[in-house]
Amino acid sequence: MHCECGAHGSLVVSSLTARSAPDCHISTEEPTLKADPIAQRKLLDLAELDARIGQVRHQLKSLPEHQQLSDLQNRRAELDAKRRDARIVVDDLTREQKKSDQDVEQVKARRTRDQGKIDQGLVTNPKDLERLTHELESLERRINTLEDIELEIMEKVEEATASLTEYEEALATTDDEIALVVKARDEKSQVAQSELDTVTEQRGVEVFSIPGDLLALYDKIREKQGVGAAMLRARRCEGCQLTLNPSDLARITKTPADEVVRCEECSRILVRTDESGL
Ligand SMILES: [Zn+2]
Repeated sequence: MHCECGAHGSLVVSSLTARSAPDCHISTEEPTLKADPIAQRKLLDLAELDARIGQVRHQLKSLPEHQQLSDLQNRRAELDAKRRDARIVVDDLTREQKKSDQDVEQVKARRTRDQGKIDQGLVTNPKDLERLTHELESLERRINTLEDIELEIMEKVEEATASLTEYEEALATTDDEIALVVKARDEKSQVAQSELDTVTEQRGVEVFSIPGDLLALYDKIREKQGVGAAMLRARRCEGCQLTLNPSDLARITKTPADEVVRCEECSRILVRTDESGL
């Protein structure tokens, strides 16, 4: 038969759905599903494997090394920027120092030349001699000033070089720390990934013994709820930990064993076992 509500389009509604057809407009319940109780119980094994897969995936994502690496990379980027700035300062000052050295040398050369002229007796005119002597005094003062500047620049170069070295050493230390954290992350990831592979393989084997429609329902719930099936143990849904009320329990007790029941609270497939307390 066809459902009249329109929401189901032209889908042919099975006889199972037909049973709930009168409630179609007020209930969103899915069609009742039939499945061998043994297959239903296998869902519990599957749920356990899926829970483990979820845990290991979470473990992989939340390894403390991820945060540590992120912090270290940030620190490295900061240090690298400071190192680059320090390198520029050192290079600039080194150029300045070279120029300052040349200035001193240039004035000293002129002093040597003038002194040479006097020493060799090349300047005989008293006025020229006086002018040259004054010039030598002036050159001496100039040399002193230039040498002071040279000294100042040298001190700055020393400071800047020390600062550059400090950043370079800090970078090297950070790189060593990064390498250690990467190693620890890779080791832990490898262990977790290997477990994930094993459990995923087990799941692959497990699903073979579960009917397609039951598995599809389980997977659909799992996508929304994380876990698709839970045991009804001592009248309690182990999925949401809620104790079922007497009317729901009575309904479930009456439901044939090969009919799939769902938890009213968390909508997971409720798997009945000897421990269900029914
Ligand atoms: Zn529940």
